[in-house]
Amino acid sequence: MDRKGLLLVLSGPSGAGKGTICESFMKKNKDVRLSVSTTTRKMRTGEVDGISYNFISKDEFEKSLKEDGFLEHVHVFGNYYGTPKSVVEENINKGINVLLEIEIVGAMQIKEEYPDAVLIFVLPPTICELEKRIVKRGTETDDQIKDRLSRALSEIRKIDEYSYFIINKDVDEAVDYMESIIKAEKSNVKRYSQQIINLYQEEK
Ligand code: 5GP
Repeated sequence: MDRKGLLLVLSGPSGAGKGTICESFMKKNKDVRLSVSTTTRKMRTGEVDGISYNFISKDEFEKSLKEDGFLEHVHVFGNYYGTPKSVVEENINKGINVLLEIEIVGAMQIKEEYPDAVLIFVLPPTICELEKRIVKRGTETDDQIKDRLSRALSEIRKIDEYSYFIINKDVDEAVDYMESIIKAEKSNVKRYSQQIINLYQEEK
């Protein structure tokens, strides 16, 4: 049976550990493509252009936006972030699962456009732990940390929009959950019912 790839959206507050989960998940799941987002934010130490993000200028981003180049986009923390449309659509049409690691506003845009997308919310064990993680990262100023924490609380209030949640206490455990979610979605009757009926009718 030909199945379109799943559009997996891993979302949740900044600092909840989405990036770490994604990295670990991608090492184990080579058949899934991680979508590389485009951003106007400055590159952090250790980040690589084209791998961590596609780093572009504000003008370039706005040009691409006008040309309908993004599946979703958002302007947060003073910068643009967006998911390039063509790469994601090409892979999904080829039956390849694609993983997006994005914040909640973008996730809601995806939900609207692609109701079949699988929305997963990553939670930190506690808000205190979230603060510790952002502080430890050492890449944000005090005001930026405050901004990220207050945004985190308002994001958590919208968890009802998601299908699954993962509490990120342990990365390996979080990755296990993601793999289970994918397996469950691959056997979701609602997603594939018409294809199944067609397949068995054709055989007869
Ligand atoms: P950071 O600046 O820490 O890399 O990312 C800030 C937030 O933007 C994170 O929550 C991250 O998941 C989110 N983000 C990264 N890329 C995208 C994207 O393409 N679209 C949306 N909507 N959010 C993104």
